[in-house]
Amino acid sequence: MKVLVAVKRVIDYNVKVRVKPDHSDVDLTNVKMAMNPFCEIAVEEAIQLKERGVASEVVAVTIGPKAAQEQLRTALALGADRAIHLETDERVESLAVARLLKSVIDEEQPELVLLGKQAIDSDNNQTGQMLAALMDWPQATFASRVLIEDGKATVTREIDGGLQTIALDLPAIITSDLRLNEPRYAKLPDIMKAKKKPLDVRSVADSGVDIAPRTRLLRVEMPAERQAGERVESVDALLDKLKNEAKVI
Ligand code: AMP
Repeated sequence: MKVLVAVKRVIDYNVKVRVKPDHSDVDLTNVKMAMNPFCEIAVEEAIQLKERGVASEVVAVTIGPKAAQEQLRTALALGADRAIHLETDERVESLAVARLLKSVIDEEQPELVLLGKQAIDSDNNQTGQMLAALMDWPQATFASRVLIEDGKATVTREIDGGLQTIALDLPAIITSDLRLNEPRYAKLPDIMKAKKKPLDVRSVADSGVDIAPRTRLLRVEMPAERQAGERVESVDALLDKLKNEAKVI
């Protein structure tokens, strides 16, 4: 079974994000970038499927600038067999990402496609869903457990206030949630070996896929600074403040 995993290059989650002075976007100058954490979980799941003998090949794919090859090399170091880079410097919206991933799926014919549930930069949580619709394949989002057997996937999903387990026929799209697994770290020898694994670079411009954006980014702002907290002496004092100062009750 061939597994395709979509990985996105995003700002490292440890970095405190800065906004450009003109508020036109997030400032990425000299900022540490990394693989989106939910994509790391998707890669880990694909590798575990290979280790269990369920998957025969794991192919990592990304859409983004040349630098995004770093994240593909990370996926290769973690255990992916080969990688595909669809290169572009344009801002690519989820629908365009989904269309580009569809073009790769049409060619590669994987039986399972794993994505992160969400990219922590744009927080869209929609690429997997859009891809499933474009492919007309079943989807399981927010997966916290995946079992593949006899051409079927049984997926436990994290839903509000509980878990839901669903069965779906393959080929299918699955998006990973936080508790699906704990991603491993790449070992130095594997990082060295990854440099020799195949990485196929293609231009998005030559793909024939329409990536014209449907939205314009108007303004980006930092969240409001949090006010310092205050200790109160009694429940009555708290109620008084909530009623008369904060005016929330
Ligand atoms: P989003 O819908 O943007 O929150 O992203 C959800 C998931 O879609 C990510 O975790 C990735 O698996 C995939 N994805 C989004 N953008 C890209 C991209 N540029 N290249 C590869 N995969 C992507």
